[in-house]
Amino acid sequence: MTRKKRIVIALGGNALGNTLPEQMAAVKITSKAIVDLIEEGCEVVVTHGNGPQVGMVNNAMIALTHEDPKQPNTPLSVCVAMSQAYIGYDLQNALREELLNRGITNIPVATMITQVRVDENDPAFGAPSKPIGKFVTKEQAEKMEQDYGYIMKEDSGRGYRRVVASPKPVEIVEIGTIRTMVDSGDLVIACGGGGIPVTRQGNHLKGASAVIDKDFASCLLAKELDADYLIILTAVEKVAVNFGKPNEEWLSDLSVEKAQQYMAEGHFAPGSMLPKVQAAVDFASSKEGRTALITLLEKSKEGIQGKTGTRFHI
Ligand code: ADP
Ligand code: MG
Repeated sequence: MTRKKRIVIALGGNALGNTLPEQMAAVKITSKAIVDLIEEGCEVVVTHGNGPQVGMVNNAMIALTHEDPKQPNTPLSVCVAMSQAYIGYDLQNALREELLNRGITNIPVATMITQVRVDENDPAFGAPSKPIGKFVTKEQAEKMEQDYGYIMKEDSGRGYRRVVASPKPVEIVEIGTIRTMVDSGDLVIACGGGGIPVTRQGNHLKGASAVIDKDFASCLLAKELDADYLIILTAVEKVAVNFGKPNEEWLSDLSVEKAQQYMAEGHFAPGSMLPKVQAAVDFASSKEGRTALITLLEKSKEGIQGKTGTRFHI
């Protein structure tokens, strides 16, 4: 029997929405796209971002300290853990329902709370770059900088957002358990929000004040699971050069070499498209036969059939 195509599918912000009711509705659509791929005969592992959600959890925990001074600040690592559970719960619930609705009763769904080790000397700790939370105006951003000491940055022409440190993932702590579950045919949601960032101190794993980019964590997971595909689902159908300019050009097929040239020329915005392209290039160049794809959630089936999206190969 030929081995099923193994796909690590990374869900972007628009697959989850920005509020509790939005997420509840969004995961239903997301689950349909994922189960479509399972019906196509693929073995799927799900990862997801958490930018808006970790911002929301962080704000809620700050409000708690204002309400009750006995409550200390909640570390960002704990906020990431909370976001993994909150998103994982909605996703696993919706995926289970979608599978059952299609008569698929032999695929258990579970979320793995995942810690991802980062290097405490990663230069990213000194240069916050990862946008989290909601978009705000310039004036609101200035007030947040004053009130909370946040660092606020403009994000791809869509407004201002808080930025936090985003170190590179080095090791997925729970990889053994994830592999066992995936190998036994379970539908696993792992490395949510890029994973809970931790640094190693002997046997102790210490939570780090950071949010790992889910695109990099998904790439590491895909390599560790020896996946055939890394699919990064986002808000655009394809990757563009000269993005947003009159000479914008959407790309269908991209060699690793060409992608590296475009990266060097600065075509991809840091914190949004750049990490996706970097992750796609890293995965596609890591082993013969590995393909990365960047496309829209609604186009994932067509994407895997080779009909759309931006495809990265050696
Ligand atoms: P996600 O939540 O899926 O991680 P991001 O907002 O981080 O989404 O990144 C996707 C966004 O990157 C797109 O919606 C687009 O606005 C922006 N972007 C920046 N540069 C490019 C580019 N060269 N081609 C396509 N999209 C780009
Ligand atoms: Mg992103």
